[in-house]
Amino acid sequence: MPDAQPGRGETPGRREPIYMDYQATTPLDPRVLDAMLPHMRGRVGNPHSNTHSHGREAMRAVDDARIAIAALIGANAAEIVFTSGATESNNMLLRGAASAGARVGRRGIVSCVTEHHAVLDVVRRLAEEGSAVATLGVDGNGLLDPGSVLRAANSGTAIVSVMAANNEIGVLQPIAEIAAAAHAVGALFHTDAAQAVGRVPVDVRAQGIDAMSFTAHKMYGPMGIGAAYVAADARGRIDPLLYGGGQQGGLRSGTLPVALCVGFGEAARICAAEMDEDARRVAAMRDAFLEALSSAGVVFELNGAVSPRLPGNVNVSFPGVDAEALLMRAGRHLSISSGSACTAESLEPSHVVAALGGRPLRAEEAIRVSLGRMTTGEEVADAARIVARSVGRLRGVAYTPLED
Ligand SMILES: *Cc1c(COP(=O)(O)O)cnc(C)c1O
Repeated sequence: MPDAQPGRGETPGRREPIYMDYQATTPLDPRVLDAMLPHMRGRVGNPHSNTHSHGREAMRAVDDARIAIAALIGANAAEIVFTSGATESNNMLLRGAASAGARVGRRGIVSCVTEHHAVLDVVRRLAEEGSAVATLGVDGNGLLDPGSVLRAANSGTAIVSVMAANNEIGVLQPIAEIAAAAHAVGALFHTDAAQAVGRVPVDVRAQGIDAMSFTAHKMYGPMGIGAAYVAADARGRIDPLLYGGGQQGGLRSGTLPVALCVGFGEAARICAAEMDEDARRVAAMRDAFLEALSSAGVVFELNGAVSPRLPGNVNVSFPGVDAEALLMRAGRHLSISSGSACTAESLEPSHVVAALGGRPLRAEEAIRVSLGRMTTGEEVADAARIVARSVGRLRGVAYTPLED
C-alpha cells in the first residue's frame, strides 16, 4: 500500500533528504492516522468514567486497541499496560521488579552491555540504590551467550533483562534461551522489544517472556504511547512506578490517551497482517543497498551478525572514515545516524559497536542506515550512491558510479 514517501518534497529539482532512520522512529502509517482522527475531533469521554456512555465508548475503543496489541505478541489483553513509551516501560518494569524483589530477598539484576540507555541507565541507577548488578558482555557478533546468564544469575536475582533486537546493529538475541536461564533460578525475564515488535515475530509465551517493553512510534504508530507486557503470573512481582487513580489495575495510574491507544492498536493490527511481506521486501532492499556499495568498490565492515538480524538494519564501519564527518557530508541528502538517537547529541562513539571488539576505531566509523515499510527501491539506489560518493570524497577515492 504505502503511498507516503516521508520527507520527499514536491519542489522540482530540489529533493528533500531521503529518510533512512527507521530505527530512530517510523513514519505514521496513514491508515493509523485515519483510525485516530475521529477520536481527536469532537469526541469526548474519559475512558475511566464508566457511569455514562461517553466514558464507556472511550473505554471500548481502548479495549479494542488492547486486544489488537495483545494479539500481535501472543498475550491476553489484560496483560497489556499502556505507558508513554518504551523508556517508561523499561523504568517501570526494572524498578518495579527491583523493589518487589527486594522484599523477598532478591536484589540481583542481570543485563547486557549492548542494551539501550533506557535499560542501562536505569540499571546503573538501581546499582547506586543497592541492587547487585551484573552487566554481561557479548561476542564479536553482538550476541549474548545464554550460558553466561546461567553463570551470573542465582537465587538472589530478581530480574534478567536482555533486549530482543538491538537498536544499533539490529541483531536478535536468543531470548527464549536467556529466559530459560532466568527461570532456572526463579528470576523474572524482561526484554526491551522496542525494535522487535512489529518487525519480527514475538510470542511472549513461546519465548518465556514475563515482562516486555515496546513502543508505538517504532511500528508506524504515534509517538507518546508504548506498552509494558506483564504476564498475569508476574503481576505481583512488579511494583508500579506511577501512583494515582489506580487505573490499569493499579500498575500505571493516569488517564489513558484514547486517540493514541487507538492508533497503537491500528498499528499493531497492520503489523500483524503485513509483517511477513514487509520483512521480505525490506530485507531484499537492505541486501540491495549493501550490494550496491560492494559493486561500487566501497570497502566496509558489517557490524553485528548477518543473521539473525532485523530485516531493515544496516550498520557498517568504513575504515579510515569518521562517522561524524560522513554524516555531515551525506546528511543534506540522506537522514541516517551514527547509532542510537538518544546518544547522538553527545557525539560519543557507539557503546554497542565498541562492545564487539575488533579495530579500536570501528565504533567511531560506524553508521546506521535503517529501512522500513515506506522505503522504495529508488531511494535505496540513491542512498547507496550518496554514501559511496561521500565515503569516496572522505577517502580521496572516486568510486565507480553505480548503475541504475
Ligand atoms: C526507541 C527505543 C527505546 C525508547 O523508546 P521510547 O518509546 O522512545 O521511549 C527503548 N529501547 C529501544 C531498544 C529502542 O529502540
